[in-house]
Amino acid sequence: MSLDCGRKPEHPEETHANSTQTEDHPCIAWSGLSRKIPVLVFHAETVVSKGGEFRDIGERYNLAFKIVRTESRLVRSILSSHGFHEVHPNSNDFNLMWTGIHLKPYLLRGLQDFQKVNHFPRSYELTRKDRLYKNIQRMQQVHGFKRFHIIPQSFILPSEYQEFCSCAKDKGPWIIKPVASSRGRGIYLVSSPNQIPMDENILVSRYINNPLLIDDFKFDVRLYVLVTSYEPLIIYLYEEGLARFATVKYDHAAKNIKNQFMHLTNYSVNKKSSDYVSCDDPEVEDYGNKWSMSAMLRYLKQEGKDTALLMGQVEDLVIKAVLSAEQQIATACKMYVPHRNNCFELYGFDVLIDSNLKPWLLEVNLSPSLACDAPLDLKIKASMISDMFSLVGEFCPLTPWARSTEYVGAAQHPLSLRIKNGLRYWCCLPCIAPLRSAVKATLSSFPLQLKVLRKIKEENERRGGFIRIFPTPETWELYSGYLEYKTSMNCMLATSRGFVELRESQLSPSSARMAFSSYLHRVQMRLLAESRGNGSSAWPERDDDQMELVVRFLKRAASNLQQDLRVALPSRRLPLADRRRILSHQLGEFIHCYNKETEQMVKKMERLAEEERCVNPDVFQEFVEEASESDLEEVLTFYTHKNKSASVFLGTGCTNAKSGVASSGRTSQRTVEGTSRQGERDSDALRLLGIREKKVCNGKGWLPFSTLPPCVFIQCAMPWVRC
Ligand code: ADP
Repeated sequence: MSLDCGRKPEHPEETHANSTQTEDHPCIAWSGLSRKIPVLVFHAETVVSKGGEFRDIGERYNLAFKIVRTESRLVRSILSSHGFHEVHPNSNDFNLMWTGIHLKPYLLRGLQDFQKVNHFPRSYELTRKDRLYKNIQRMQQVHGFKRFHIIPQSFILPSEYQEFCSCAKDKGPWIIKPVASSRGRGIYLVSSPNQIPMDENILVSRYINNPLLIDDFKFDVRLYVLVTSYEPLIIYLYEEGLARFATVKYDHAAKNIKNQFMHLTNYSVNKKSSDYVSCDDPEVEDYGNKWSMSAMLRYLKQEGKDTALLMGQVEDLVIKAVLSAEQQIATACKMYVPHRNNCFELYGFDVLIDSNLKPWLLEVNLSPSLACDAPLDLKIKASMISDMFSLVGEFCPLTPWARSTEYVGAAQHPLSLRIKNGLRYWCCLPCIAPLRSAVKATLSSFPLQLKVLRKIKEENERRGGFIRIFPTPETWELYSGYLEYKTSMNCMLATSRGFVELRESQLSPSSARMAFSSYLHRVQMRLLAESRGNGSSAWPERDDDQMELVVRFLKRAASNLQQDLRVALPSRRLPLADRRRILSHQLGEFIHCYNKETEQMVKKMERLAEEERCVNPDVFQEFVEEASESDLEEVLTFYTHKNKSASVFLGTGCTNAKSGVASSGRTSQRTVEGTSRQGERDSDALRLLGIREKKVCNGKGWLPFSTLPPCVFIQCAMPWVRC
């Protein structure tokens, strides 16, 4: 088994050859239309085992990370145990940057398409207490206070002093927080407004004085929320979290107001208490001052609480909070982030549940603590971080551009001299910028949407313990009205139970033929590959049948070409491998002529306004090159359904195909869009593909022809395409 992608491949195909041999490696999942892009699957247990067995993955792919302005042993340990090597914080030669701070715009702009950073620009719109409150307040004003009543009423002082005074006549207590601080630093409670300093930048929040208690202790919940994209917006919530308990029993009497160990639930505060109880057994999740969230939910359920309702409200709160900052962050991404997949972000949401079981959002943490002081921390956080890296996992993408233009460009470009052997050969370089912007310009076009959909679908398949909470059919229904940056990507993703929106895209007849030709090419390549394998067959009769079907297809299809094409049948006495090779050659000849006729058609069509409304053919070409057989089938199926005709693929001028070896070579009536009636066109296409008229067996029963797409015909004619 070869995993060696750490060298420059002679041919792009070569990486595919390698890839097919590595499908079963536990650290690799293949992504992309043709499943050629390696995606790393991370294993949490490597933190303990030190991952000797997985180290070769990162090493062979020459993957690198850097950690900047933060201390994260866990991240370092997981990456190192998967063979990533750490580079200096100043180095630009990395696949992943894990940073404790936001990146400056110029650094973001310099990112290459395989590089990932763990923050979006302007995430502080969520993670700064004052900004979060302002954003939620704006949503309250626009969409109604009740709908966004997810955060305790707050005021930013000194600027909102007047508003605060008019409201603060009510009795406290109030909780005072520095606007940009964390870990309980600088937080205290006051019972009266006149105890509040008016000359500092602070956030004053109404204190929730009826917290839900467990064994009389106040607790809050740390949830992990992963956003992989703001356009379209995609939010995941990790299935596990932590419940953190105060160390002194709760008693809201005024005399206790200064007792931090009673009112604050931060671990960093309570660990200083002599009453702090830690637990050494990772399997015991409901003992001491830190529980797993699931243990806490089990406990509440036993107490008769509706935990499903509670978690539903928690999801509601998470989605609404992210939505409140979505426009600012998505706009910043558009301005500063050069590639769609550069950024992802793990947020730490702190939620307090009150005695009515209502969750309140206290704050969103920019870099949630990944410290593992207790075994339970390690158990939860190692799994969560591994799942997160697997989910965002395209650290070594072999992009479509990389495989075609980009790869050649990279090899020739002076910059590549600075790039070491390995994945960095496939980086994005300036020479392909025009192509990339052309692709960007066709944002609403079919292939790009398809790629984004595919990526998101695959991401979801690798989600591990992360649950996608937005968009889902239900949450789209509930929350899409709050999207401020409502783009076609958002709509497409949400409404695509697969490809619904895509199917609205127009595909020109020439593009449809391009896809069909590419589909036949895959079949040809398969034949050729099989001819090079072992010639002996376990099922010679079945092979004979398949050969026969290809021959039949070729004869009939060739007779429909404008150009004369002789189809020479390989003798049945020849060895199987030779027959396959000859047929593959014949199919190749056919495709060649077919493509020439498509080209002529393109020239004619160029003048037609109709073509202009269709998907950009260059971009579509790119898609076709990348597509798998099933992707192509999907497109062909869609096209046929939409146009209620299959005639474009092979023309309408078929008359009786001559029996025997040679095609008829007729040149008249060979227009792609013939003048015959729809029904005639369909049955021509049907005959061409050797399917019985009117009805065809789909393996389950008989279907009327009109419901069947051309690729089904081809499958019927060439069953091995599905084998
Ligand atoms: P920090 O970023 O410093 O952790 P938080 O906003 O999370 O600040 O507050 C720290 C702790 O204070 C919380 O874990 C919670 O226990 C308590 N707390 C914060 N705000 C409130 C509030 N409005 N009502 C009740 N308790 C609160």
